[in-house]
Amino acid sequence: MKKGDHKLIQALNRSKVLNKIRTEGPISRIDLAKKNKLSPSTVASAVQELIKEGYVSEIGTGSSSGGRKPILLKFNPDNHYLFAVAITNSVMMLARMNLEARVLQKETHPLTGLQGEAVVERLQSLMDDFMTGQEDLERCVGISITVPGIVSDSQGMVHYNTKLRMTDVPMKRMVEERYGLRTWVENDMNSVVLAERRFGDYAFANLIYISIGDGLGSGILINDHLLRGKHGGAGEFGHTSINRSGIRCECGNVGCLDSYISWIAVYSRIITAIATGRPTLIQEMSGGDYSQIVPSVFKEALRRGDKLARDLNEEVAELLGAAIVNLVNMFNPEALILGGDMAHGNPELLEMVRSYIDRHALPILKEDMVFGLASLGEDEKLMGAASVLLQDLLGFSLTE
Ligand SMILES: [Zn+2]
Repeated sequence: MKKGDHKLIQALNRSKVLNKIRTEGPISRIDLAKKNKLSPSTVASAVQELIKEGYVSEIGTGSSSGGRKPILLKFNPDNHYLFAVAITNSVMMLARMNLEARVLQKETHPLTGLQGEAVVERLQSLMDDFMTGQEDLERCVGISITVPGIVSDSQGMVHYNTKLRMTDVPMKRMVEERYGLRTWVENDMNSVVLAERRFGDYAFANLIYISIGDGLGSGILINDHLLRGKHGGAGEFGHTSINRSGIRCECGNVGCLDSYISWIAVYSRIITAIATGRPTLIQEMSGGDYSQIVPSVFKEALRRGDKLARDLNEEVAELLGAAIVNLVNMFNPEALILGGDMAHGNPELLEMVRSYIDRHALPILKEDMVFGLASLGEDEKLMGAASVLLQDLLGFSLTE
């Protein structure tokens, strides 16, 4: 065996042991050895290292059938922490989180009108401020950043984001050089599907997350691996074509799904309807100020039975349903989750899409497929960032 192989095996054993302590602790060294099929001495040395580094601690004693009672081990999620940064097309969130992806401290800042270089400058100044307040950087395991668009996780590069106008931004390198902390960069939807798998209600190895908000995105987990593609561009759900002679899209194509059912598309349909004199509660509710028309107003109009809102919601459901049936038939997921501003608080949309899938997807694929609403709430992207780091750094496996 080469020296490198030995190190790798040690690291793998260590993450096996840590995973078991985390998921089944408090647990004894003997049980760890049995459950991981490792020798007691391998477990002992891994545990010693984990205790020394503060990831694991000893507590009390367990029951024993005779002889000396074993000492039990438990995972310590609060001895270290991580920084998570979630960049969306409209805000930047920064958080300090523990190693179970719990938010300990959080800030949200608008990104109004910022593009390109200015986004990166804003990121640096916000991180400078946020991190200056932290006195225990030696306990920080790293920084994890999620960004919408085409992101190469291996290079830590944001290749392409049309709305924030970012092209080939070497974000990982920039952040690592500035703060001297190991940094991860990942696409936001990829990170959220991991978080739903690990911390949410959807513990499935074949899982698709679809977000419908300002834009449309998806994260696809196949056999517990993220589907990334060569450049990290897999899952650009919003840019799947639905009309060969349709609306021109900023991606260069025409008739992209994004141009028909994202909130931005629905918003422009509402404005056009108002301009052509179609009666709608939305006009009243906005007090004539179009900037007040946001998804929550649209959903309130739905609740109050507004005809325009209901018609638009039905159209969104039909197109989204058709696009989702394509995904179901392509990937045969065990579960498919809908998230984003347009989905939350819009049960009619969920039901109409569910019914569309029931009517149109391949029977054997839809029969036992779980379909539901995203479960992690407003911190989903921060939890996503944490999941990316934890999976890689501590080998937090998805399958246990
Ligand atoms: Zn497009």
